[in-house]
Amino acid sequence: MKKIMFFLLLSFPLAHAGELKIGAAQVKITPPVGTPLAGSYKVRVSNGVLDDLLAKAIVVEQDGAKAALVGLDIVTTTRPAVTAARKLIAEQTGIAPERVMISATHTHSGPVQPRGNLMDEITGATRPLAQEFTAGLPELIARAVAEANAKLVPARASALMAREGHTSFNRRYWMKDGTLGWMAGRSPNAVRPAGPIDPDVGACFFAGTGDEPAPLAAYVNFAMHATVVGGTKCSGDYPAAIAKRFAEFKGTNLVTLFANGCCGNVNQINPRWPAQGHGPQEAERIGTVLAAAVFRDWPQLQPLHTFAPRARAETFTLPRRKITDEEVTQARQLYSQMEKGKKFAIPVLANAVCVLETQANKDKPLEAEVQVIAFSDDLAIVSLPGEIFVELGLAIKKASPFKHTFIAELANGSIGYVPNKSAYAEGNYEVVSARCAEGSGEMFVDAAVKLLKEIAKP
Ligand SMILES: [Zn+2]
Repeated sequence: MKKIMFFLLLSFPLAHAGELKIGAAQVKITPPVGTPLAGSYKVRVSNGVLDDLLAKAIVVEQDGAKAALVGLDIVTTTRPAVTAARKLIAEQTGIAPERVMISATHTHSGPVQPRGNLMDEITGATRPLAQEFTAGLPELIARAVAEANAKLVPARASALMAREGHTSFNRRYWMKDGTLGWMAGRSPNAVRPAGPIDPDVGACFFAGTGDEPAPLAAYVNFAMHATVVGGTKCSGDYPAAIAKRFAEFKGTNLVTLFANGCCGNVNQINPRWPAQGHGPQEAERIGTVLAAAVFRDWPQLQPLHTFAPRARAETFTLPRRKITDEEVTQARQLYSQMEKGKKFAIPVLANAVCVLETQANKDKPLEAEVQVIAFSDDLAIVSLPGEIFVELGLAIKKASPFKHTFIAELANGSIGYVPNKSAYAEGNYEVVSARCAEGSGEMFVDAAVKLLKEIAKP
């Protein structure tokens, strides 16, 4: 009996079972000068390039199973682009659609993509260059994944969760009169932030094997709007600065993919620093601080015991915002006044756009996909399709059975802002922009936690 056991142990190729392979690549997606940029309630046309915008891909393989993580330097992913890219990826690499997670860094200095609502007119997304960018994007995403897939080499993964609590700020504030102020932190009437931030800076680092392992890729996760650069030039915003610092530390071949966390109500504006600027220099400062938080904790990088990548996804229908006929009439009036040149505060305009979109789509289901990918007991990555309030991300992390949980928002499409339940009564910009009804965010949390538990014990 002992002899047979010995024979069995020898004859199974244990050294090879469980070998992790990684490939990483990045492809330029910078649109030409003249392309309208996203992230404003007006047409803002690109007149130059500060940083090239990139589609970055990391393919993970073990025991014949693969998964692909994609990060795009754009304001959001859209469902049609994700569906088209996943189809091309399946054709070119054999990686099944549910094993591909595509997220956006949320840079506000990248091209606008048509969303099929009134925002398209407001932002110039109907213009030819925006349409061309959108039409060409799936192919560029697929190219990044195919190149990463072609570069698979034996690798090791390690991860850490650093913290940086002085760089991001909840942008909703309680005011002296009891109302909720949006972006009002520097007002003398602001009392305190109305919600938390998430100080986690997650990092997963991939290197080759052998005596001098080559740095291959990093996946970095932090929750904060990428609204630092502004202006009219294409830029990856602060996530591009993080990637530059990682390249300086580990070599220019390193592909650093940044996924933005649940930052629907979190940005970089420090209420106690009125002189804080914005622009490329401030983006460099912020990116450097976040990279440094990871570098400070670098000695704590824990090797991951990896397994064949697992993926689970669930698509479900969310309840739409409830609107009255009176709201529709008012929104129509406001919109026509805007078209004649009248200016409105952003929350007022956002509300009108959302009411009219809700009216136009009231019979169409509001579909959302939640996805989880894991390749180790110690790390799972959750994707959520929208601008998710930080409270919801914190709830997922708290209930996750994994040691580290990264969350990529604006991933696999976007349904817009997703506030937590209590924020609905508080109102203001994100709430009046939200297409989904109260309770939708908590549906995301439940779905994510359920998938995390399933994937932890397949
Ligand atoms: Zn946003």
